[in-house]
Amino acid sequence: MAVGPEKHEWPAMLDVQSLLGRGWRPTPFREFILKIHSRCNLACDYCYMYEMADQSWRGQPRKMARPTVDWTARRIAEHARTRLLDQVDVTLHGGEPLLAGVDHLRYTMDAVRDACAPDVETRFRIQTNGVLLDPPFLELFDEYGVHVGVSLDGDEEGHDRHRKTPSGRGSFQSVRAGLHRLTAEPYRHLFSGLLSTVDLRNDPVATYEAMLEFQPPVISFLLPHGNWDTPPPGRPPDSSTPYGDWLVTVFDHWYGAPEKRTSVRLFDDILRLLLGRRSTGEAVGLTPVAVLVVETNGHIEQVDTLKSAYEGAAGTALHVSRDPFETALTHPSIAARQIRELALGSVCRECGLRKVCGAGHYAHRYRSGTGFRNPSVFCPDLQRLITHVHAVLSRDIAGIRSRRGQSGGGSKSTSLCLPSMKTTASG
Ligand code: SF4
Repeated sequence: MAVGPEKHEWPAMLDVQSLLGRGWRPTPFREFILKIHSRCNLACDYCYMYEMADQSWRGQPRKMARPTVDWTARRIAEHARTRLLDQVDVTLHGGEPLLAGVDHLRYTMDAVRDACAPDVETRFRIQTNGVLLDPPFLELFDEYGVHVGVSLDGDEEGHDRHRKTPSGRGSFQSVRAGLHRLTAEPYRHLFSGLLSTVDLRNDPVATYEAMLEFQPPVISFLLPHGNWDTPPPGRPPDSSTPYGDWLVTVFDHWYGAPEKRTSVRLFDDILRLLLGRRSTGEAVGLTPVAVLVVETNGHIEQVDTLKSAYEGAAGTALHVSRDPFETALTHPSIAARQIRELALGSVCRECGLRKVCGAGHYAHRYRSGTGFRNPSVFCPDLQRLITHVHAVLSRDIAGIRSRRGQSGGGSKSTSLCLPSMKTTASG
């Protein structure tokens, strides 16, 4: 199986040694995603792990073996100490990580915590489909302070459109029951938020409102994975903006609410970027990606959403038993996620939205032949959303300045970082 970028495609030809010679320095990994179990108890039809280009899960062991866990724990601690980090984030992931069972999750967290103690603090998270969330897991998470994110695609109709059991039944009611257990006392403080994949057939406001039932601290809307070779559903190769329109409808509802009921990560990130700050995720912006994945068999990989591009796209050919994480920092595919505007193609480099958009999610830029140096396949949608948020923010800042001027309070300058709203054509 091929690992990493195809030889003729970006970023295989990225000369990392030259970058280092010119003063670029890699950003240390701060988040480690452990693929603790490679299978799932649901069969969601849009899953990038099982339903898209990379089918390597078929050769993975079901559960990360204890020796692999031990190697991973040692590598995390080694990297943190090499890079003088006093804290790291460890996300237990899958497949469905709860299939690993309470004892194996406990073993894994103990291994990482023991390897890192006493000088490196470990913060644990888990991303689950929520079906198996029951008291034994919740007690474990409470004991270790594990923050729990759950995937939910809105109301029952929208959720069950894709998120089904292997027998074809919808999973909404099981997930809802799990969420009610998680969000009741004494576990409510462990709830870190909801992850929702956008489907254009779902009503945007109804989808958002349905998720508020659980009072999530954060909602993360994900665009469905796709690229220029395999476009996302409903994303024609033209200048229409179906996903941008969907997200703008949610944004207006969220932003216009009399009080903030939750954070929407994508919107908050765009607002932060417009105000000259950094994004917190990889959906927008040019913030270096400092995340590393350890597969169930111990292979060191890039973020797993790249599996939507082609077989082996997330690979590095490195393994926890042989290679320190330091080695991964100079892998072309990982360096390419940390060099900001240098990673953009010519169209994006000339785009007035680039500092906010950042060419969107890396996986959505792929086109065979040129690799990952293209605009996002969602380019028109990103333009639509970002220019709308910019317009709303500009209007509100102008209103604040005007009111301050009228009250004689003077105006404190707030600059938006977009140099212009001129965009370049997609693709
Ligand atoms: S050209 Fe499109 S994808 Fe590239 S930065 Fe501009 S809006 Fe984003």
